Amino acid sequence: MLFVIIFLIIIFLCWGSFLNVVAYRSIFDKNFFQKRSTCNNCNGLIKFYDNIPVISYLILKAKCRQCKAKISVLYPVIEILTSLILTLLFFNIFYINNNFIFYNKNILEFFAYFIFFSALIISTRTDLEALVIPQAFSIYLVPVGFIFAYFNLLKINFWDSIIGAFFGYLILFLTAKIFKFFTKKEGLGEGDMELLALIGAFIGFAGVWYTILIASLTGSLIGVIYLLITKKTRDLQIPFGPFLSFGAIVYFFLNTFIRIF
Ligand SMILES: [Zn+2]
Repeated sequence: MLFVIIFLIIIFLCWGSFLNVVAYRSIFDKNFFQKRSTCNNCNGLIKFYDNIPVISYLILKAKCRQCKAKISVLYPVIEILTSLILTLLFFNIFYINNNFIFYNKNILEFFAYFIFFSALIISTRTDLEALVIPQAFSIYLVPVGFIFAYFNLLKINFWDSIIGAFFGYLILFLTAKIFKFFTKKEGLGEGDMELLALIGAFIGFAGVWYTILIASLTGSLIGVIYLLITKKTRDLQIPFGPFLSFGAIVYFFLNTFIRIF
């Protein structure tokens, strides 16, 4: 058992490392299909032994070996989060009655949520780093959610997936309109609406409600703490995408664990 857990953690750390690269390249317009990783500052090739998830970051003390430019803390953070979330998902789907059970349906089910969670993680990184959520990892994956729901590979049915996606988009769209009407300011971005549509397509109508609830609570809490620490008040933009992703993931696991116990 311990061996399985360690194996999963390592595999998903590597997957997290890949998601970092996808997120970075999708916002900074680097050559998306270039094979080897390069330093974001000096463009030097990164040696394979400097490319080990988390460990290389610690050994290099967060600096490029060649140019000494700082490596973003987002790299190890995203790797650890990915590993944690996907290991939990693996257990959630395959660990049944104190045993790992694999059959065609739950393998496909794992694949469906694996795509969903990977998209949430990529959106989290791009939103934290550049305040954007790429459409390829939000709205374009909505039909993919419908297809998974249609073939019964999600914990929700087809109509719940459709309603969840439309409702998710609409509620943030209306909130943004009302907010703009009263304050004459842009509060929510198009990216947030598209991300919540994706969330609705994979966890349904109830999932959207809980996601908004958890995201607003944690978002305002972190926002206030951030304001108190930095004492910045003007032109403050806090990305909402990471909170939506957090809300969706918390709902997914709580919902299934509550059903079990
Ligand atoms: Zn460098």
